[in-house]
Amino acid sequence: MSKKVKSEVISILKAVLTSPNETVTLLKEKLDSLPTTKVCQTFVMENDELALALTHEGKPYFSGNIIWVGNRRDGQDGVEICVDTGKEMKTVIPSRDNAKTVMLTPHKGKPTITIETMSQVRCAVCGKAIEIFDEVGVCPQCDNQSHLAHLQEWVRMKSSCPYCKTELVVLKDGTISVPLTSQT
Ligand SMILES: [Zn+2]
Ligand SMILES: [Zn+2]
Repeated sequence: MSKKVKSEVISILKAVLTSPNETVTLLKEKLDSLPTTKVCQTFVMENDELALALTHEGKPYFSGNIIWVGNRRDGQDGVEICVDTGKEMKTVIPSRDNAKTVMLTPHKGKPTITIETMSQVRCAVCGKAIEIFDEVGVCPQCDNQSHLAHLQEWVRMKSSCPYCKTELVVLKDGTISVPLTSQT
């Protein structure tokens, strides 16, 4: 056991890439108090006690109070973090492709999670970088990534993956899928 240092900075990247439960358990362990209400698999912060700050190449990007930490809507491992920037609500979805480091500063002013972002992946449809707050659509065949809305639009028009050209459909719930052979 290492002794508690007041200014310690802790990497929480692994927990954030795993699940809301792992993330909030680790946060509660490191912070003296973090009251949350669990609604299904989503942890709602009861007070504005925890901040999220995004940086890009060391420069501040945006920041705000964390409203909730929940499961990813696409069913993959990891978390979605809803942040109130004061102007708007943003949903941040950290992944190995967009988060270089995820650090918790627990005892220096307001507890803050700082994510150093990177945008390594470009959308197969528009060619622009996929940012940490963008919803990602993935081709089930080749795993190529696009902005979700761009991929849905493309598949609705062309019925195929923009990258590998596999035949694809958009299901009613917005999921991108390979058509079932029983369908006509
Ligand atoms: Zn795009
Ligand atoms: Zn594909």
